[in-house]
Amino acid sequence: MNKPAEFNPQVKLETVPVWINGKALAPAGRHGEVFNPATGRVTKKVVFSDAALVDAAVQAAAAAFPAWRDTPVLRRARVMQKFLQLLQAQQKELAKIITEEHGKTLDDAMGSVHRGIEVVEFACGIPQLLKGEYSENVGTQVDTHALRQPVGVCAGITPFNFPVMVPLWMFPLAIACGNTFILKPSEKVPSASVRMAELFKQAGLPDGVLNVIHGDKAAVDALLSHEGIKAVSFVGSTPIAKYIYETAAKAGKRVQALGGAKNHAVVLPDADLEFAADALIGAAYGSAGERCMAISAVVAVGAAGDPLVKLLEKKAKQIKLGVDMGPLVTRQHRDKVASYIDIGLKEGARLVVDARQQQTPQEGFYLGTSLFDQVTPGMEIYRNEIFGPILIVLRAGTIDEAISIINRNPYANGTAIFTESGGAARRFQNEVQVGMVGINVPIPVPVAFYSFGGWKSSLFGDLHVHGTEAIKFYTRTKVVTTRWPHQDTPAPGFDMPTLG
Ligand code: NAD
Repeated sequence: MNKPAEFNPQVKLETVPVWINGKALAPAGRHGEVFNPATGRVTKKVVFSDAALVDAAVQAAAAAFPAWRDTPVLRRARVMQKFLQLLQAQQKELAKIITEEHGKTLDDAMGSVHRGIEVVEFACGIPQLLKGEYSENVGTQVDTHALRQPVGVCAGITPFNFPVMVPLWMFPLAIACGNTFILKPSEKVPSASVRMAELFKQAGLPDGVLNVIHGDKAAVDALLSHEGIKAVSFVGSTPIAKYIYETAAKAGKRVQALGGAKNHAVVLPDADLEFAADALIGAAYGSAGERCMAISAVVAVGAAGDPLVKLLEKKAKQIKLGVDMGPLVTRQHRDKVASYIDIGLKEGARLVVDARQQQTPQEGFYLGTSLFDQVTPGMEIYRNEIFGPILIVLRAGTIDEAISIINRNPYANGTAIFTESGGAARRFQNEVQVGMVGINVPIPVPVAFYSFGGWKSSLFGDLHVHGTEAIKFYTRTKVVTTRWPHQDTPAPGFDMPTLG
């Protein structure tokens, strides 16, 4: 393990500001440190918002709401189209910011920005997405229509692992629907959100429609208890997701809170094992395993087990640190992930690839790849979300046993099956109790026009993010029943009206 990085107080650090009412602000007060995980050094400071700053953001968003809500949807869509162009032009700049603060490789960061941009492409279709319903003659001379109206000021609280993509799951659709928004990105990766807010302003977004605040629990709690906030979208770990859901719901807010994951990939004996192993290696170790859709547990069925583990071993050892796989986000997180190697050994799992035997760069929060075989569901390395480059393999005798293992796990974000059998795949998709399923696709993140979200402890709330479920989340329906009386109209009665 490398030594702790020195912090040199002589070096004046740039401060990542908050963005309120179309302006960058960096008031004095509490600050956090932003690291470059590849060097282990502090590179920036970030403003930590207190309740007064959060209130200023809510006031700005509330003041901007009436005019933005009433801006014709075509004009809102045009601002979104311009924002889309700016994001496309700045894709590399945003990816570089991600690499500097999160640590993932530039290519991986580029891919994640691209997936975020796809949500903005979807949001450009907002005039079509907001079309309502109309029924003529539901009663004598009575018509009914349903319309979707924005909910008001919305907040989004996001995790460290996708500094651009996860915020883009939230604010573009919320804003396209006519809401105003306050984004609280992870304090570990704060810069990209501010840059996106600048680009949105450049695209013509009125001041106050999108605001960015930073901070830790204090800032989040100030958002959750603020009466001005009507809806909260959260993505992060399960304990915090549950807390956000309960606190925001108790305060009468609409809430969707996406949590952590333990994603299983089932490999059947008839699968193309070389193809499956390549897919699993990318899905397990890509982004150093810091993806909520990473495959972290393989369930090898029957005769697939031994040859699959051999292939995984060979391929996991070939991964080059600093080239294929970046560092973990912080020293604490790297050390926590590394501690699972000892835990797994103590629990009796077979360590096939050991990160501790691999060369790591001198600086930074790097950790190599680890692979455990013969893991059982009772072990901590199975029960906990490790969120790092440790892949575990469980063995199952049959597909029934594999499905039963997955369905007993409290997490239910994503899962995949590798097989050449259509019947087995169909049965798997039907019986597995997980929100997103891949068939020979290891990371089944839905495209932007479908919705993303898990089941069970991977989602608290009812509606998933992006796609049409996001339109439902960020709007309220109103149903209007209309009669224009004239001389033939029957007089209203005293009893419960029936319209037919
Ligand atoms: P985290 O839960 O620690 O933090 C997420 C956000 O919550 C951050 O903005 C953070 O500032 C805030 N926060 C942290 N502690 C808080 C507290 N006590 N009270 C109020 N707010 C608090 O998550 P993370 O470490 O940033 O991200 C990794 C986690 O996110 C993993 O568990 C991963 O699976 C999950 N994740 C899930 C999805 C999904 O779609 N389900 C996507 C990405 C990440």
